[in-house]
Amino acid sequence: ELEQTHGSLIGGMLRRMRARRTAPAGASDASPRTRRRPFSFRDGLAMLPEALARRLGTAVQYGRAVTRLVPTDGGVLVETGDTSPRPFDAALVTLPLYRLDGLLDVDEAVGPQPVPVTYPPVSVVALGFRREDVAHPLDGFGVLVPACETDFQILGTLFSSTLFPGRAPDGHVLLTTLLGGARRPELALAPEPRREQAVLDDLRRLLGVRGRPTLVRHVCWPRAIPQYERGYGAVKAWLAALEQHAPRLAFAGNYRAGVSVGDTMASGADAAHRLARTLAVDARTR
Ligand SMILES: Cc1cc2nc3c(=O)[nH]c(=O)nc-3n(C[C@H](O)[C@H](O)[C@H](O)COP(=O)(O)OP(=O)(O)OC[C@H]3O[C@@H](n4cnc5c(N)ncnc54)[C@H](O)[C@@H]3O)c2cc1C
Repeated sequence: ELEQTHGSLIGGMLRRMRARRTAPAGASDASPRTRRRPFSFRDGLAMLPEALARRLGTAVQYGRAVTRLVPTDGGVLVETGDTSPRPFDAALVTLPLYRLDGLLDVDEAVGPQPVPVTYPPVSVVALGFRREDVAHPLDGFGVLVPACETDFQILGTLFSSTLFPGRAPDGHVLLTTLLGGARRPELALAPEPRREQAVLDDLRRLLGVRGRPTLVRHVCWPRAIPQYERGYGAVKAWLAALEQHAPRLAFAGNYRAGVSVGDTMASGADAAHRLARTLAVDARTR
């Protein structure tokens, strides 16, 4: 159930919602997977890392890119460019996979990353409308455009103001549309007016949108989501081998076991537990 492209992210959520609705009473909560619900926070997902950073206080150092990671016998040396390498007992690495190249001192026995992993661009276009300018009741999660619908340009649209409170003022709605991905990478990188027009053209046909939006926001993610393509198993095995050869190093992120926020958080928890176990065992045997 790996959600490789944004299309399949939205699709995965839509399918889950449908499965819950059609499952016999009691069955929809049978597994942790089917209990998952879309979630966000009052001011968006950024509230989560901001809250974690507040808890950590001065331990968090901003604006210092890691430039080198060197596993050592008793830990990991972390270099940030402006200072000499600092030794740590362990490092939980959450950089994107494409950043590891050239930054991580890899054990010769493990070798370099076996196959490249592509990260196609995705653009988000958030449009606000007066409620009366959208004919559709917006009584759901959103719209997924399957790849076979080649006369549409977008990947899908979330009914953000239906899903989460506080996303649009009274009498207005917010529609969040995704463009590009592996299907149409060039559209994600097109000039903003071109992206907006593509979204408006599709939303007019899909949702009966009329007139001009009252709000327009663009965000482009030039390297959005790693693609779990054929051969990806070799990348996962490579990461596991790196951790085996350098047990004070652990990797977490959307390239380990799924691209959703939930999967990514779970990979972080797994990595933290792995490191804690290693440190506990090493402390006992010292
Ligand atoms: C447009 C879009 C919409 C999405 N929508 C959803 C959704 O609706 N639901 C869902 O579940 N998932 C969604 N996803 C997927 C999900 O958000 C991501 O897969 C997940 O957040 C990735 O988390 P991460 O920690 O692996 O990577 P990132 O969040 O990319 O974190 C990597 C961090 O490393 C930092 N970094 C990079 N280089 C360095 C360096 N040299 N030194 C120090 N730090 C560095 C970066 O600044 C960044 O903060 C979406 C993704 C995109 C792009």
